[in-house]
Amino acid sequence: MSRVLVTHRLPAGASDALDRDWTVWEGEGAMPREALMAEVPHLDGLLCMLVDRVDAELIEAGPNLKVISQMAVGVDNVDLDAATAAGVPVGHTPGVLTETTADTAFALLAAACRRLPEGAAILRAGEVGEWDPEFLLGGDMWNTTIGIVGLGRIGQAIARRAAGFGMRILYSGRRPRAEGPELGAEFVALDDLVSRADHVVIAAPLTADTHHLFDRELLGRLKDGATLVNIARGGLVDHDALVEVARQGRIRVGLDVTDPEPLPPDHPLLAMSNVLVIPHLGSASVRTRRAMADLSIENLRAGLKQQPLPACANPSVYAGKTQQV
Ligand code: NAP
Repeated sequence: MSRVLVTHRLPAGASDALDRDWTVWEGEGAMPREALMAEVPHLDGLLCMLVDRVDAELIEAGPNLKVISQMAVGVDNVDLDAATAAGVPVGHTPGVLTETTADTAFALLAAACRRLPEGAAILRAGEVGEWDPEFLLGGDMWNTTIGIVGLGRIGQAIARRAAGFGMRILYSGRRPRAEGPELGAEFVALDDLVSRADHVVIAAPLTADTHHLFDRELLGRLKDGATLVNIARGGLVDHDALVEVARQGRIRVGLDVTDPEPLPPDHPLLAMSNVLVIPHLGSASVRTRRAMADLSIENLRAGLKQQPLPACANPSVYAGKTQQV
């Protein structure tokens, strides 16, 4: 019998697909670190969430771990090097959340650019007067230029949506992508992207290289009236610098992800009318969360049987082993 811990109840009925003898943390919010550390020494498998810190200390505390399966595509909370060194494959959920997350990015872009939450708030406060031709003028989406930082799965799905809006598409990354030409997307340096785009959408993973990629200098180069959307991870943007730049009122901002998460209610970004922050809802549709849970269970079961994971974030763990990945 395999000993498995699932660090949160699974969404959309997916808990029914778990084995009955697996333990599910039933508390509210993230499982406390001490409780997780106390369980790990006994575990063969761990199904975790992006709020769990799966660092070297935790991995070393689990000598029997055969698999770590994360219910997210981003694995910046998991020490992949430590897992690989310990021979533990790490599962994640690429692909199944791509389109929903791109939808959320576009919803944020539209809402921030067209000032929809501002209008709704003013109306709710009873402060809307007679129709006024100068009232709440925003930016346009059609016939504008979008800059996508990271043309991966989600970045490409954003590019497809942008094409439908008649946008010109720029993208940046570590190298040009083969998919660029068929999407009509032009590869440019990040500086160039930021100074040319009317809308900048961040869709790159959080790594040591991308931490605070959007620093004071880069944020300061955004065009007047530009919309900045972060659908990736909060750590890609220096939030102190973002407060300063957003305060100037030159840009509009739509954030699904922040640093820290959630933002405290008194955070200055939450008081700015040109900043729209939502609480990490990127993949939060019923269908997509079910698909993510199902894939994380598939990864878990494969790892317990010491078979290749359907979606492995550290495939180098199999180097030198006879398994095919
Ligand atoms: P992906 O397919 O791996 O795409 C990531 C892209 O980022 C790749 O095109 C990669 O391109 C690029 N990239 C890597 N390092 C970069 C760097 N230093 N500078 C610029 N670009 C870089 O991943 P995905 O499935 O699209 O997901 C992307 C990220 O979105 C995830 O890591 C996760 O953090 C986040 N996410 C957020 C939510 C949410 O709920 N808000 C949901 C899902 C995912 P190159 O390798 O060619 O450079």
